[in-house]
Amino acid sequence: MAKILSIDVGGTKLSYCIINEKGEIISKIEKTSTPKNIEDMKKIFHKIISSYEKDVDFIAFATAGAVNLSNTKVESSTPNLPEGYNSIDFSLLSKKHVYVENDANAAAWAEYKTGAAIGDNNTIIITLGTGIGGGFIIDGKMLRGKSGRGGEVGSMKINSKGRICTCRRKDCWESYASGTGLKTSAVELALSDDIFKTSIFKDKTPDEITTYDIIEGIKKNDSYSKKVFEIWKNDLITGLIGLTNIFDPESIVISGGMGQFINTSEIEEKINSEIVVSPVKIKLAKAGNLAGMIGAALLAFQKFSV
Ligand SMILES: [Zn+2]
Repeated sequence: MAKILSIDVGGTKLSYCIINEKGEIISKIEKTSTPKNIEDMKKIFHKIISSYEKDVDFIAFATAGAVNLSNTKVESSTPNLPEGYNSIDFSLLSKKHVYVENDANAAAWAEYKTGAAIGDNNTIIITLGTGIGGGFIIDGKMLRGKSGRGGEVGSMKINSKGRICTCRRKDCWESYASGTGLKTSAVELALSDDIFKTSIFKDKTPDEITTYDIIEGIKKNDSYSKKVFEIWKNDLITGLIGLTNIFDPESIVISGGMGQFINTSEIEEKINSEIVVSPVKIKLAKAGNLAGMIGAALLAFQKFSV
């Protein structure tokens, strides 16, 4: 059975292990901090690859940033990774075949091959965290677009209120339906609705209210917190309805930290009552936080094993 060395390059840590062609992890998972400069980054790649490459068939990377169509380079600037990262040609890092994929795409592929979306040839994986990421599997293939940057679902514009996103554009879906979006809705509601005057958080300044506060507030039956969460949920559902109508997927899989706060069957029912295509299933992710490494390994295997 083929073995793949898979390396996940995140903004703060770098993880790696050996994975077989079924997506099973067959070695200890090693971790180290992500180097802050490009020379140290190249050194650590060299060190990891030279100690494993004789034992593996292929090498895979899951990384932050947009990856080119030939899966050899990271093309976008990635604020958490060192300057010059874009200059690395991953295919030259080893004599073995090397494959690099965007981490959200890789995680989506793992969800499709080994996780919640097994057998769903049309599925969308939505990562709800401080932002919104996504990966689209269309007719069993990864959606890449003309440049490899397709699937930037967090930047989908969902209304025209003029809310400023962290990317400085206005009204991106992620400025409403991410963890950051929930916090912004909490501030907006506190400043605009008298419901805040009777809230358990009324003595806080609106800016201090956290996502965690809102979740705690709901448990304590706080009307303000419940209203904030309803606004957030509606913004989430609005985006999911649009995606369902366009892609007609078998499933939408929700991953990321905010996923734990949603009731999938309630959201599924709301979406299915408003769409023009056949019903969609809303599922929670199963592949876990190793999904990036697993997906990159499976994609490398698929590309190089033929
Ligand atoms: Zn944005």
